[in-house]
Amino acid sequence: MKIFCVGRNYVAHVLELKNEVPTDPLIFMKPPTALLLEDKPFYHPDFSQNIHYEVELVLKICKNGKSIQPQFAHRYYDAIGLGIDFTARDLQDKFKAKGQPWELAKSFDNSAVVSPFLPLDELGAAPYQFSMQKNGIVVQSGNTENMIFSFDDIICFVSKYITLQKGDYIFTGTPAGVGKVSIGEVYTGFLGDKKMFTCEIK
Ligand code: MG
Repeated sequence: MKIFCVGRNYVAHVLELKNEVPTDPLIFMKPPTALLLEDKPFYHPDFSQNIHYEVELVLKICKNGKSIQPQFAHRYYDAIGLGIDFTARDLQDKFKAKGQPWELAKSFDNSAVVSPFLPLDELGAAPYQFSMQKNGIVVQSGNTENMIFSFDDIICFVSKYITLQKGDYIFTGTPAGVGKVSIGEVYTGFLGDKKMFTCEIK
């Protein structure tokens, strides 16, 4: 399976990191070894002094597709989960400054928290509201209405280049409010009012 991620998909987050608003989705990938499931703790790696949390809605791809047309895109995902795209911001800043790939800043082990998925027919129609708390206080909250590229846009765009396969995940971008994690903190993600995951930093 593959894990796609979209960078810079909420304007307020683009601006907080002083990036340009993109004209095409910015896509990167994480390997399956990045998955952190079942409320397992995140062990802070020692190669970074500035790991950031980024809470994101995650799509679960339900059938294979290549060059998917916009009117059919909604048929390719059937469930939504919530996750954290952990990012070694210090490494990413260094790579960005040199024009180098982000891989090591984004794709390290356990950098992709993913909750269980909720089927779309249970969730109802968009828009979807989501949020994350740090130690019980909301630090990020987002709404799919504020995405630059919609779920369908992302599916069309990615599948032009890379075949989507059943079981792939797509992280759809983070809203504003990203920040540094510290050992001892507990992060809890919500999709609407439903608690989706807990992740302690160890
Ligand atoms: Mg992200």
